[in-house]
Amino acid sequence: MAFNFDKYIATYPDFPKKGILFRDITPLTENGNAFRQTVNKIADFVKSKNADLVVAPEARGFIIGCPVAYKLGIGFSPARKEGKLPGKKVSASYGLEYGKSTLYMNQSAVKPGQKVVVIDDLLATGGTIGATIKMVKELGGKVVGAAFIIELSELNGRNKMNDCDVLSLVKY
Ligand code: IMP
Repeated sequence: MAFNFDKYIATYPDFPKKGILFRDITPLTENGNAFRQTVNKIADFVKSKNADLVVAPEARGFIIGCPVAYKLGIGFSPARKEGKLPGKKVSASYGLEYGKSTLYMNQSAVKPGQKVVVIDDLLATGGTIGATIKMVKELGGKVVGAAFIIELSELNGRNKMNDCDVLSLVKY
């Protein structure tokens, strides 16, 4: 029987501000079996893509991306927020409701030709993962998949990834 991931997602109206329905993965990661099922399911997807590397944006992407990479014995590289990453970097900006935000990756994070799966907790408009994908491509990587616990389908973030396979465990 398919595992019921949505049972472990909490929903908070008006967080972090009025009008936003916040989906929270904390109950899922706090339950040992649900967390393991999540990591296993996403790891199966990453394995099926023959990926060499997992790349995930700060911060909740790390919660899933790291154990998936560890399970498969492949590398993990973080896409970090402003002011966190030393050394030579690439960057990509994306729009927020008000203003913009920028993510950074090490210039040596991806070797040319490496197959990469990008992972985050939630896909909404696709801005965050789109910026992550842009940097992976700039570094010569091939994005072979994108995986999320949650997808907010009506925001059409999936359309920003039409050249790779997308997995999401819970759709709203
Ligand atoms: P996007 O860039 O519009 O696709 O938004 C996705 C990013 O914002 C992810 O990194 C999420 O962690 C975060 N995010 C957006 N909405 C929610 C939510 O309802 N719950 C948790 N994270 C969210």
